[in-house]
Amino acid sequence: MAPILKQHVADAAASGAPPPSDEFRLSDFDLTIRNGTVTNADATFRADIGIVDGRIAAIADRLPAGAHDIDASERLVLPGGIDSHCHVEQISSNGVMTADDFESATVSAAFGGTTTIIPFAAQHRGMALPAVVADYHACAGPKAVIDYGFHLIVSDPTETALTVDLPALIRQGYTSFKVYMTYDKLKLDDYQMLDVLDTASTHGALVMVHAENNDMIKWIAQRLLARGHTAPKYHAVSHDPLAESEATHRVIALARLTDTPVLIVHVSGRDAVRTIRAAQTLGARVYGETCPQYLFLTAADIDRPGLDGAMFCCSPPPRDAASQEAVWEGLANGTFQVYSSDHAPYRYDETGKLPKGAATTFKDMANGVPGLELRLPLLFSEGVGRGRLSLQQFVALTATNHARMYGLAHRKGAIAVGLDADICLWDAGREVTVAAASLHDRVGYTPYEGRALRGWPVTVINRGRVVVADGRLLAERGSGMFVSRRTPGPVAMARTPSPQTQLFKSLTAR
Ligand SMILES: [Zn+2]
Repeated sequence: MAPILKQHVADAAASGAPPPSDEFRLSDFDLTIRNGTVTNADATFRADIGIVDGRIAAIADRLPAGAHDIDASERLVLPGGIDSHCHVEQISSNGVMTADDFESATVSAAFGGTTTIIPFAAQHRGMALPAVVADYHACAGPKAVIDYGFHLIVSDPTETALTVDLPALIRQGYTSFKVYMTYDKLKLDDYQMLDVLDTASTHGALVMVHAENNDMIKWIAQRLLARGHTAPKYHAVSHDPLAESEATHRVIALARLTDTPVLIVHVSGRDAVRTIRAAQTLGARVYGETCPQYLFLTAADIDRPGLDGAMFCCSPPPRDAASQEAVWEGLANGTFQVYSSDHAPYRYDETGKLPKGAATTFKDMANGVPGLELRLPLLFSEGVGRGRLSLQQFVALTATNHARMYGLAHRKGAIAVGLDADICLWDAGREVTVAAASLHDRVGYTPYEGRALRGWPVTVINRGRVVVADGRLLAERGSGMFVSRRTPGPVAMARTPSPQTQLFKSLTAR
């Protein structure tokens, strides 16, 4: 028992006061959050929360105050956000390092109400996966202020990777990997994709796919550049929506052939949303993710004087108003299970967006936009605040579903007894005007500058530690912990294989 708790117990005993409840005594909790409105993905209720050793030990109508006590009577008490798509301290296939390291990224995430991130341990061709993972641990361990796991990026599915490294890493808690259908240095061809999907299905991992048709994009881009169309806005032209919907359709077919669940990440275009929806309706185990940039930006944002549009370039690019609407609909109707940032932080200077200064073309720029810190406030304000999503959907899309999809539900994603005390207290009425200067990443700009938002995470708790309170960082560098993940929900769900799959599986079983 901590000294402060002993003192409380001694005081109570000396005063002769009865214990405040039969079940819970003053000494029981390290931290209590009382009088709040708790919202999980499936319910909203008034309750007090008692925390011991970083985990939720009790949820009840009324609990006695713990050693530390937070009055949440004016707050919404939500599970801490989980951001399952962000690029941190990662070198791109073109050799560009992200602006954020594990310290700045996790601090920025925490200020935005996120308590766990799942960035990538990115394999480039020729690299051995176990060494890649070790490298990322060495970067994250001393710096992270909130908890983290790692997805793998698989760009070189050699025989060793498929039969030795991936099975071993899956067993060690790296139960998801991202693969690319585009970018010359990362892309897998369909044959390799089948191998990776089959390995995932055999050993229990979820495959996340960047679905865009590499040749379509390259072909358009070459023709644009040859005619002198080099401005950032042509990035959006070259990434035609058909490149996205074609690749989405194709990888869904590959996943169905191998009877493997698949998650299409950062979906941006209306056609791709419809493709995913149609496959889900057929019973295919296809899941989807979208990001703030597809809800709050369009290609018109990229069309700015000079090179300023580079600050809004990411792949796939923001599209038109109809796609924006389709993506909002996909969040509301369950086509998408997760809403992530795809935080890919690059500064608007020669280290990121402008490697060739004024001569930079849309093909030279580092691709990506920041979003770790504003992910939740944007969706809370414009989704919940404007009635597009319920508060429970918000919780599902920002926390609970990430835990379920990626094998973290035994630790995170809900406010429930036994889970980690990852909790975010929201001031639903707080009005904030977005300004890059008040954010905590190292990007130096935000695509959402000047936006007026309503609702803000004011107290952020990770494993019972108050990480952020009243605009101040209270967590120590390196205090975040690696979280080993279990079998992702979609993979664990039992299912009878389709007759077609059964036939070829029975003929080819090893
Ligand atoms: Zn991607």
